[in-house]
Amino acid sequence: MPKVLLTGGSGFIAAHVLDQLLERGFDVVTTVRSEEKGDKILAAHPNTPKEKLSYVIVKDVAQDGAFDDVWIYSLRFGSISIWSYLLINEKAVKSDPPFDYVLHTASPFHFNVQDPVKDFLDPAIKGTTGILKAIKAYAPTVKRVTITSSFAAIINPKNHEKVYSEKNWNPVTWEEGLDSSNTYRASKTLAEKAAWDFVEKEKPNFDLATINPPLVLGPVVHYLSSLDAINTSNARISGLVRGFNKDAIPPTGTFLWVDVRDVALAHVRTIEVSEAGAQRFFITAGHYSNKDIIDIIRDAYPELDDRLPPKDAPGDVPKDVYGYDNSKSTQVLGLKYRGLKESVVDTVKTLLENGA
Ligand code: NDP
Repeated sequence: MPKVLLTGGSGFIAAHVLDQLLERGFDVVTTVRSEEKGDKILAAHPNTPKEKLSYVIVKDVAQDGAFDDVWIYSLRFGSISIWSYLLINEKAVKSDPPFDYVLHTASPFHFNVQDPVKDFLDPAIKGTTGILKAIKAYAPTVKRVTITSSFAAIINPKNHEKVYSEKNWNPVTWEEGLDSSNTYRASKTLAEKAAWDFVEKEKPNFDLATINPPLVLGPVVHYLSSLDAINTSNARISGLVRGFNKDAIPPTGTFLWVDVRDVALAHVRTIEVSEAGAQRFFITAGHYSNKDIIDIIRDAYPELDDRLPPKDAPGDVPKDVYGYDNSKSTQVLGLKYRGLKESVVDTVKTLLENGA
């Protein structure tokens, strides 16, 4: 079976990608930042043989050579410097049998911006160019690399398009990205641009596809240590279910969403469908608002009513903000999007199972 390197296996989206890859018979090696995280993934798949699923450690994708895994020590004896090369691991992008595809999901996603460059821009941009360079140098069998980009790389918040599609690019600059309100969006935009530039200039053996989802909701199948560690995009549903917004409906923010299982399938389809090469895919199920989410929760879980904002609380309405065109994802990748009700009901179920 074809073999896939999946980066960021501990993440919310990657957990679903991993499961769908295994279900469809792919062999998978995933990168994680620690042995503990890797062992949790293996423990969650007790019946999967190790030749089908294993992990390698890539501690920080922002580091130069993060995917090369060659650690260099300089030893000094008096005035003489001796270089000693210590190979800690196989190169992350090398495997036996070798990889056919790479899915790069690892990138920081939260809104706690302390140092925009160190915490976001570097891991997103250097993480992306770093893995592309390593694949070009050490993994000539890789045919396609799919990068998890974002609607953040499409949206133009200062001057919305009437209808967003893959043709649109966020015009955000590096300098604007240093302002914490723009940092995440800049990290995704500049990382995706860097990837397309790399392929154009370096002409590697592989081609590129990107997956550009807006807010991703859906069941938590990843390896959650506590509800406080919930991934960023599910935090709004988690907050509602835990009674953090009893007084009012919080602003919706971005008015487009998609279920994580559809995002995961989109990743897998990019490696199954040959025409997916050299394409961006805008992956969205459509409009939603926080009020829609709350109404679904109240209806499906009446016992949670006293944790939710009042029934008559006003909410913002998405309809006239901007439109979307997701036709490429349905036509090329064959996606059929889940509805908001199914997604929210399934998400709440897993949150309650995790102690909400
Ligand atoms: P998670 O936070 O759950 O996953 C992020 C993953 O990236 C984790 O595995 C994390 O590792 C890893 N990671 C972050 N920084 C580094 C680093 N410096 N070095 C190595 N690994 C790192 O978020 P999601 O699953 O939601 O996000 C996955 C991808 O999808 C990201 O690229 C994100 O931008 C993109 N995306 C997400 C959307 C959403 O709504 N969820 C919407 C659009 C795009 P660790 O667990 O060890 O921290």
